[in-house]
Amino acid sequence: MHHIHEKNHLHYVTFENLKNTNMVNHCFTTRLGGVSQGVYAQLNLSFTRGEPKQTILENYHILCRTLGFDFDSFVLCHQTHTTNVRVVTEADRGMGVTKQSTIQDTDALITNIPGIQLVAFSADCTPIFLLDTQKKAIAVIHAGWRGTVNGIAKKTIEKMIQHYDTNPKDIIAGIGPCIGQCCFQVDAPVIKEFHQKLSFAEEVIIQDTVPQKYKIDLWETNRRILMEAGVPREQIEICKICTMCHTELFYSHRAMGNARGNMAAVISLK
Ligand SMILES: [Zn+2]
Repeated sequence: MHHIHEKNHLHYVTFENLKNTNMVNHCFTTRLGGVSQGVYAQLNLSFTRGEPKQTILENYHILCRTLGFDFDSFVLCHQTHTTNVRVVTEADRGMGVTKQSTIQDTDALITNIPGIQLVAFSADCTPIFLLDTQKKAIAVIHAGWRGTVNGIAKKTIEKMIQHYDTNPKDIIAGIGPCIGQCCFQVDAPVIKEFHQKLSFAEEVIIQDTVPQKYKIDLWETNRRILMEAGVPREQIEICKICTMCHTELFYSHRAMGNARGNMAAVISLK
């Protein structure tokens, strides 16, 4: 179950299962509560959208003041719809906010270092949090349809097994707000890729009312991928709010095009 909170005008989403462990600080931001103007209004957290850097830094300060994050401990990466997973170490602390990020072509971050805040951006794509409650390691994942169909969620878990000896049965997951099946209309080539790569594709795709168009459920697809990787169904929570249906609360790439900000999924180990 997810919750939408409001604190000092900042609206953000949390997951009950993650919160109940008392092991992480986490939030999925909305577009409300920052100082961004115009098409970026109000809480753009991405430095790559054309907005002045000072404005975005102020938004990070607001996030830190309100939710207790440490301004010097964010780690941002340059997302390019890959399935590349980066192991974040102490040397990376601050990358992307207080120092230049050298993390290129990466769409998932994992760490076992307390206090480092892993960040993934989205505006329709699926953000995913993972917490290994036994080995005390976390992940944040940016899964657009490409990352989703190529199994970035599974690859992130494999990396956690490799580096932290994670047992997938110990993972708690939160799948964040993204474009819902109501709005995620695609063409035949996308569907073909889903059928080629995912055994359960038929169960997450519906024929649209528009001929030759289809609609994909990215929440369910990612849940199935996590379950196939060994995460128990009851340990996965999904915030099923469609970003495209709710542009008053979220940025949506499909609804707004490139004239928009980005939301951030942020998680750190206590
Ligand atoms: Zn929708």
